[in-house]
Amino acid sequence: MSFLAKGVKPQNKHGVSDTVAAAFPSLKPQSTSSQIWKSRISWRITISAFLTILIVQVAILTLTIPQKEAQYLNEIKEIGRSSIAPLIKDGFAAMNTPFSIEKAREELANRTKSPITAEQARQLLSSTIVNGISIYNAQDFLLLGSYGEPISMIMIDQESLSRSYRSVDGSSYEVVYRGNDLRNSDYVIVARLNSETVADRIFDFAQSNVMIMFLLSLLVTTVLMIALGHWLLEPILFMRDNLISASKSPENPKIPPSPYDANDEIGGTILLAQKLIKQNADSMMQVRSAAEDKIHKLAYFDSLTGLPNRTLFIQKLAEKAFAAEGSKAQRTAVITLDLDHFKDINDSMGHNVGDAILRGVGKRLRMSLPESAVIARFDADEFAITMPLSTDLNKSIDIAEKVAAIIKTEPFKVYNENFQIRSSIGVATYPDDSADPGDVLKNADIALNRAKEEGRDRIKEYSEDFDRAVQQRFQLLRDLRDALENKDLNIFYQPQFDLKTGKIIGAEALLRWFKKDNSKEGGKYISPAEFIPIAEQSGLIVPIGEWVLKEACRTAREWHDAGHDIRIAVNVSGAQFFQSDMVKYTADVLAKTGVKPHNVELEVTESVFMDDISIAIDTLKRLHELGVELAIDDFGTGYSSLSYLRQFSIDRLKIDQSFIRNALNNADDAAIARTIVRLGHSLNLKVIAEGVETKEHEQFLLAEECDEVQGFRYSKPIPKDQFWDFINEYNGNLSSFDQ
Ligand code: C2E
Ligand code: MG
Ligand code: MG
Repeated sequence: MSFLAKGVKPQNKHGVSDTVAAAFPSLKPQSTSSQIWKSRISWRITISAFLTILIVQVAILTLTIPQKEAQYLNEIKEIGRSSIAPLIKDGFAAMNTPFSIEKAREELANRTKSPITAEQARQLLSSTIVNGISIYNAQDFLLLGSYGEPISMIMIDQESLSRSYRSVDGSSYEVVYRGNDLRNSDYVIVARLNSETVADRIFDFAQSNVMIMFLLSLLVTTVLMIALGHWLLEPILFMRDNLISASKSPENPKIPPSPYDANDEIGGTILLAQKLIKQNADSMMQVRSAAEDKIHKLAYFDSLTGLPNRTLFIQKLAEKAFAAEGSKAQRTAVITLDLDHFKDINDSMGHNVGDAILRGVGKRLRMSLPESAVIARFDADEFAITMPLSTDLNKSIDIAEKVAAIIKTEPFKVYNENFQIRSSIGVATYPDDSADPGDVLKNADIALNRAKEEGRDRIKEYSEDFDRAVQQRFQLLRDLRDALENKDLNIFYQPQFDLKTGKIIGAEALLRWFKKDNSKEGGKYISPAEFIPIAEQSGLIVPIGEWVLKEACRTAREWHDAGHDIRIAVNVSGAQFFQSDMVKYTADVLAKTGVKPHNVELEVTESVFMDDISIAIDTLKRLHELGVELAIDDFGTGYSSLSYLRQFSIDRLKIDQSFIRNALNNADDAAIARTIVRLGHSLNLKVIAEGVETKEHEQFLLAEECDEVQGFRYSKPIPKDQFWDFINEYNGNLSSFDQ
C-alpha cells in the first residue's frame, strides 16, 4: 500500500525535507495505510457511509418488526388451535348420519352444552398456552362455557368473529377460532393465549439483526476505506509529495514518473501537475542562469568598457600565483595606470566624452596587447594590466612603456574632437617585488601614486624606497594627530590690501605646525603643502579645519573689538566641505565667538565643485546666508566650469599665485590674470591676487584693475602678535613697501 514503494525517492526517512515538513506539519508523510486512518477526508466519507448504511438498516428493521410480531402471534394462535381442536367433536359428521328423533334431541342438547368438559378444560389450561377459554354456539352466539382466566372479548355477532385482542403488557393474546379452524364444528371459541414469549422473540430477532447490520456496516466501511486509500488517497499523496518536492527545490524537483493511469481523473491531474512543476523548474532555471550571468558580469566586469574589474583582476593574478606553486613562478608584470587630468575632461566636456575616452583606452589597450595580457578597469580612470614576462619581453618597465605609447601616440577622437591623453603609470613585478600577488598590485599602486606626485605623464617602477616614503607619511600623520591634541598647531596671518586705497582689508589665516624634535632649534616648521594633503586623505583635516575656523573667528572678534574691521580668510578643504556639517559648524562658531559674519571669509578651491556640483552650490548658498564672505582660492588652476560660476554664492575670486609670478615674463599667464579680473568684475565679484612679491607685480595688477592684493611684497604670514604690531605700524600707503 505504501506509495513510497512505488518509486518515490525519499529525501529523508519521511520522504520530505525537514524544513518543508516543519513548515507544513500536517504534510508529514507516513506510511499510506496509517495515513488512510488519519485522513480526515477518509474518515468523513467513511462515517457518512457507515451512518447511511446503519440508518437504512434500522429503517428496514423498523418495518420488519410488526411483520415478525404478526408472524409470532399467528404461530401462537396456531399452537392454541392445535391444543383446542382435538377437544371439539366433529359437528358435521354427526349431521351426515341418518335422521332420528333421539339424535336430533341429542344434537339440540349438544348445541346448548359446552363441547368441552370441565375436566378437559382444566387439563387444557394447565398443560397448554391456553389460559382461558369461552365457547359459543356458532348459530346464535350462545355462551356455552367459560374456563380459566376471564376473556375480554365477547362474541355477539358475525363482526365480532374477525377480532383479536392483545393485552397492553403483551402477556396474553385473545383469538377467535371458528368452524373451519376447529374441524368444521359449530362452535366459536375465544381463547386467551399466553403470548409472553412473543416480546422475547422479537427482542432476540432485533438484537441479532442489529448485530448483523453492524458487522455489515463495518465490512462495507472497511472495504470503502481500503478502496478510498488505494484509488483516491494514495494518488493524492503521491501528488502532494511531488508538490512538496517542488516547493523544496523548485528548480530541481525530484519527480518520479507517475504510476497512475493518466486516463482517470486523478492520474490525469497528477500528470498535469507534474508537467507544470517541470515547466516551472525549467523557467526558473532559465531566469536563474540569466540572472547569474548578469550578476557574474556585474560582479566581475566593468559595464562601461566590458573589461574585467578589480575583483576579477585580483582573482586572475592570484590564479597565476597558485598555478606557480610548486613549479617555478612565472614572472609577471603588474601595471596600474591613471589617465592624467581625466576628471577635468569629464567635468568640462561632459560624461559622454569621458565615457567614450575610457572605452577608447580600454579598446586600444586590448587590441594592442597580446592575448596573455589581462586588462582591467578599476575606478574612474584607473586601469590595470598584468602580463607574463617572456625572454623577449623580460622587463615590466618595457611593457609599461609600450602601454604609455599606446595611449599617447595618437589622440582619441570623440565627436570629431581630438583629445590628447597622457597617463601616469606604476609598475611592479611578480614575484620579484612580492610573493603575494595582492602586494604586487599594491606596490604598482604605490609606484603610480609616486608617478602622479612627480607631475604625472610618467612611468614609475616600484622601489622599496617608496615603501619607506609611505611609512614616513604614516608617521607624519601620527605626529600631526598628536600635534592637534597637544595644541602644537598655530595660525599665522598674512595681510590683504585694497590695491587702490592701500587700506588693510583682511588677513589670510594660514596653518603652521612647528614640529618639535631633538635638534638645536628644538624643531622645525612643516609646510602646509606637506601635511595638509595627508590630513585631507586621512580625514584629520576636518577637526583641524574646525579648530582653525574657531581660532580665526576669535582673532577677528578681538581685532574688531579693538577697532580694526578686518576680515579673516580661512581655507576650507574639499574633504571638510563635504565630510562635516560645515554650515552648522560655521553657524555655531559664529554664535559662540560673537564675530561679525562679514569679518569672516571662507576660501574654497575649485576642486570642491568637481565632486558634486549641486551639493557645492547648495552649501555655498547656505554659508552665504550666514553672512560670511566666500572666495574661490587658486582660481584658474582648476577646471571649474564657467557656466556654473554664476550660480555660486561667492564674493571674491583669488587669482592663483602662479599667474602673478609669471605675469611679467609670460604673456599667457598675464592674459589669464587679466581674464580672471574681467570675468570677476563681469560677475560683480571682487578679485584678489596672491603671491604679489614685487612692485612690478603690483603695477601690473593695478593696470589690470585688480581690486585686492596679498603677498610677500607686503608681508609674509606672521604670528598673531606680530600682525597686531604690523597693523598698528602700517601707514596706509602701499608705497611704504618700496625698497
Ligand atoms: P593658499 O591658501 O593658496 O595660501 C597661500 C600660500 O601662498 C601660503 O602658503 C602663503 O604662505 C603663500 N604665499 C603668500 N604670498 C606669497 C608670495 O608672495 N610668494 C610665495 N611664493 N608664496 C606666497 P602656505 O602657508 O605654505 O600654505 C599653503 C597652502 O596650504 C595654502 O594655500 C592652503 O591651500 C593650505 N593651507 C594653509 N593653511 C590651511 C588651513 O588652515 N586649512 C586648509 N584647509 N588649508 C590650509
Ligand atoms: Mg588660501
Ligand atoms: Mg591660494
